[in-house]
Amino acid sequence: MKLTLNGIMEYYRSHFDRGVLCFIRCDDCSNVFYYPRDGCPRCGSVSLTLCESSGRGTVFSYTKVHRKGVPDAVYAIVELDEGFRLYTNIENSEPSVGSHVEVFMRETNRGKMPFFRMIKDSPDPQ
Ligand SMILES: [Zn+2]
Repeated sequence: MKLTLNGIMEYYRSHFDRGVLCFIRCDDCSNVFYYPRDGCPRCGSVSLTLCESSGRGTVFSYTKVHRKGVPDAVYAIVELDEGFRLYTNIENSEPSVGSHVEVFMRETNRGKMPFFRMIKDSPDPQ
């Protein structure tokens, strides 16, 4: 289905309000991506589908930023279970590559926006 940027933003906004992360899947090449575009960044197709994400993923890479007087900030690329990646910041955490994270929404001056936090791995079954 052909999407407009406004349509995508509306879909994202209404899902963020309900605490749900979303992404876009290309109908032609199955590429998945997060940042709103009206064409597939891989194949250029305009036949796209809006999808809901589980909101769970793993840390793909991260950078720690030290600034005087404030807690370290962690900027990360998170890869969601559905395969798409997004840039985010993970607060109060010591992540490593592969750490499990989940989305949560926080009120910002642009409305509710997705952030990520670490989730404790359940212990391996004995
Ligand atoms: Zn595509």
